[in-house]
Amino acid sequence: MKVFLQLGWFFKQERKSYITGVILLLFVALLQVIPPKVIGVIADHINEGTMTKKLLMEWMAVLIVTGMLMYGLRFYWRIMIFGSSVKLSKILRDRLYHHFTNMSPAFYQKSRIGDLMAHATNDLSAIQQTAGAGVLTLVDSLSTGGFVIIAMAFTISWKLTLICLIPMPLMALLTSWFGTMLHKSFYKAQGAFSSLNDKTQESIMGIKVIKTFGQEKEDIEDFRKQSEDVVQKNIVVAKIDSLYDPTISILTGISFFLSIVFGAKYVLNGVLTIGELISFTTYLGLLIWPMLAFGWLFNIVERGRASYDRVTKLLSEKVDIQDQENARDVVPCGDIEYRLTSFTYPGETHPVLKDIQFSLERGETLGIVGKTGSGKTTLLKLFIREFEGYKGEILFGGSKIADYKLDQLRGAIGYVPQDHFLFSANVEENIAFANPAVKQAEIEKAAKLANIHDDILQFTHGYQTVVGERGVSLSGGQKQRISIARALLMNPEVLILDDSLSAVDAKTEEAILASLKQNRKGKTTIITSHRLSAIQHANQIIVLEEGTIIERGTHEELMELDGWYKNMYLHQQLEELVELGGQ
Ligand code: ADP
Repeated sequence: MKVFLQLGWFFKQERKSYITGVILLLFVALLQVIPPKVIGVIADHINEGTMTKKLLMEWMAVLIVTGMLMYGLRFYWRIMIFGSSVKLSKILRDRLYHHFTNMSPAFYQKSRIGDLMAHATNDLSAIQQTAGAGVLTLVDSLSTGGFVIIAMAFTISWKLTLICLIPMPLMALLTSWFGTMLHKSFYKAQGAFSSLNDKTQESIMGIKVIKTFGQEKEDIEDFRKQSEDVVQKNIVVAKIDSLYDPTISILTGISFFLSIVFGAKYVLNGVLTIGELISFTTYLGLLIWPMLAFGWLFNIVERGRASYDRVTKLLSEKVDIQDQENARDVVPCGDIEYRLTSFTYPGETHPVLKDIQFSLERGETLGIVGKTGSGKTTLLKLFIREFEGYKGEILFGGSKIADYKLDQLRGAIGYVPQDHFLFSANVEENIAFANPAVKQAEIEKAAKLANIHDDILQFTHGYQTVVGERGVSLSGGQKQRISIARALLMNPEVLILDDSLSAVDAKTEEAILASLKQNRKGKTTIITSHRLSAIQHANQIIVLEEGTIIERGTHEELMELDGWYKNMYLHQQLEELVELGGQ
């Protein structure tokens, strides 16, 4: 029952609805005691031959009024309690979403998306059930059970009541045992469901690869197995669940048996009237619901507690990259300086960057080249504070990057990643993503700079064409250029093109770079590329290998070194010649 305490903050917040709901519930429980009593009284009148038409009408009226009152009150407490519990899942859903959006990529690296989705759906609905059906069952079973037992003991026979309640302790024991079993099996079932969620998500995202490699059958088989696993684990839950009701029925059966055996004896001895025995057995019938409800309550509360624990654990996970106290609330600008001793990814043992030292004056262009996996992207991700925990420091405008507010730092940087992402919105909205209020003319200007304007005009609805997952299919190069336009629209202090020209042809690349050069005077640009021609005109070029700088200088200086850069440059030129010759 700890979960009710844990949810105390919510009950406090919604106390009006809950108090009203609980009071109405208590009323209903009290009203429930009336009909069995009335039936007993009527039976006695009939038995003694004292029943008149008027008397019968009066008692009937009592029954009808009680029934109508219960009907109305039941309707209202449902609104009060269930209505409030929906709010709880909304509050928790909002918190989770807020938390998810604040977490850094390191968090997403270690969490499985399927798990996160399961928390946001299954777990929240289990918690909502606890705050709704859980509260109802707790109050209802205790109050109905309590009032009925009181009515039995004080208005009929406390001896008979005691006898009939003998199976109760056994029921409490069994209930708690079932609860534990249920909790364990439910946890496993939930875990299997998470895995299935994960698998589905991955397969749908990777459907193209699956098809290309003709792995549909294998994938379906894999899905079938996992789905089967979910079923099996849920069957275990259902089995335990299904054992519960019959067990309770047997125990209530024993109660009825005892009431008839001993009740009949009392009637024969004249201790009880026949009407009282009828009332008594009807009351016993009313006790079945609270008994079952109690088991059900265990079930709901166990699920709710497990889910609430998982959600709170998730919410308490610290946002690892956030503003420092007294962070500077200004847009950073100026020179950039890396004084990095080393950086190791969270959970890894070997550093991916070692001894990275360079400085870049404001307005300059830096080219970063090197083999795939040499650490180019990592180096840039540290600059936008996607990852932290490096040894050394990175300065921007004379201050450490962590000294600025995260929003301000990121506002100063237009980062175009390798794996661009377009939202299911139109082209215009995708370009204006960071600043939806911007004028159409500016959007077009950015699109022109990114060399995508003409392509957009060719789309069926021009700038209004919907792209992204649910939109038209664009080529890799078109997507890249829309992403570049998105970054350019911010006119950022630092523009970072992280291999973001890989899918455009050499000529388009040249045109984009030329327009950037013209339009970004006085602003810093960092470009990583496989094609050395893209960074040839940079003020400074660094060559990375296995996370460390092996060559640096301008294009001309590097060509004199006779190292990796020169070899690669000549190699690429030769390739280009061969390609041209082949046309
Ligand atoms: P590049 O951009 O030059 O291709 P990266 O910076 O992407 O290189 O990768 C450098 C190294 O860091 C690679 O060995 C890669 O496997 C590793 N790496 C990249 N991202 C992560 C990550 N999120 N977690 C752990 N290792 C990573």
